[in-house]
Amino acid sequence: MEAIFGVDIGGTNIKIGKFVKGELVEYSSIKTNKEENGKYIMSEIFEEINKMLGEDTIIGLGMGVPGPVVNGVLLKAPNLGWEPFDVVERIREEYGDIYIKVTNDANLATIGEHKLGGGIGFKNFVFITIGTGIGGGVILDNELHEGVTGAAGEIGHIRVDFRNRRKCNCGLYDCVERYASATGLVITAQEKIPGRNTSLTLENLSSKTIFDEAKKGDEVALEIVDDMVEKLATALSQIASTINPEAFVIGGGVSKAGDFLIDKLAKRFQKLAFFPVRNTQFRLATLGNDAGMYGGYYIIKKEIEKDRGYEN
Ligand SMILES: [Zn+2]
Repeated sequence: MEAIFGVDIGGTNIKIGKFVKGELVEYSSIKTNKEENGKYIMSEIFEEINKMLGEDTIIGLGMGVPGPVVNGVLLKAPNLGWEPFDVVERIREEYGDIYIKVTNDANLATIGEHKLGGGIGFKNFVFITIGTGIGGGVILDNELHEGVTGAAGEIGHIRVDFRNRRKCNCGLYDCVERYASATGLVITAQEKIPGRNTSLTLENLSSKTIFDEAKKGDEVALEIVDDMVEKLATALSQIASTINPEAFVIGGGVSKAGDFLIDKLAKRFQKLAFFPVRNTQFRLATLGNDAGMYGGYYIIKKEIEKDRGYEN
C-alpha cells in the first residue's frame, strides 16, 4: 500500500506518523539527538520510517523543522544546531522521487489545525502557538501563506513596547514573545512579585502556576496575566488590520489556560482592534503536540490530489 509520513522535528522529540488511505495507522516518537550539531537526526528519522514502513511503499513525506525554510532549505535551527541545510535534498537522497515538503513547524501545525483541529471550517485564519516563544502560521483562502523568506506567521517578533525593556533572542527589543510567552510571563512575574502580597513565589514560577493563581483571583497573578493579554491583544489587533482573518486559533503549552485566557484575550482585542475587524473569532487549538505531524500528512495529501486530479 501507499504510505504518507508526517514528521515533526521538535527540540526534544520527533513525532512520526504513518498514514495509509487517509488514516493514521502507526505513530512513533523518538528523542531528538542533538549530538554533533544534530548530524544524526535525519538518519535516525529514516531508520524509524523504514521500520514503520513494513511492506508498504512511501510516496510522500511532509516535515516540520524548528526554523525558517526557503525552497526546502532550512536557514537556521539553533535548537538542533543546524545551519543552512537542504532538508529536501537530504530526503531525496534517501527516498528518491517522492512527494516532499519541508516547512517550519508552526506552519505545519497550522495546516494540522486547519484540517483536523481548531481551524476547521475557516478559510482565513491565523494560528498562534504560545510556548517558550511565540510562533504561528497564516491560512489565506485555504492555503498556507509562507512569505518570501518563509517568515509569514512569525508573529512572536511584532514589537509591542517602545522602551527597549526586554531584548529578544532575535536581536530586537520588546518583541511580543518577550512578554506574552511562558518565558515572558515568568519575567513579568519576577518584576511584579517582590514586596507584594501574593501566593506566587519566585521559586516555582511557570505559566501554569501563574494562571492557576490568577484563576483563583490572586491580584498579582491577575496583573501578570493582564499584562500578557495587553501585549498579545495589541499584536493580534495589528495582524487583524493587516489580514482581516475570520479567526485566531490559539495553541501551544500556554493555551492550556483555556477559556480563561481566550475570553480575556477576545475581550481586550475588541477594545484595541480597528472597528471592522473587532468580531474576529477566538478559538482554542485542539491537536496539541500532534498538530505538526498531521499537518505533514495533509500538506502531502494535497499535492498528490492536485497531481492526480481530484478535489480534496
Ligand atoms: Zn524577536
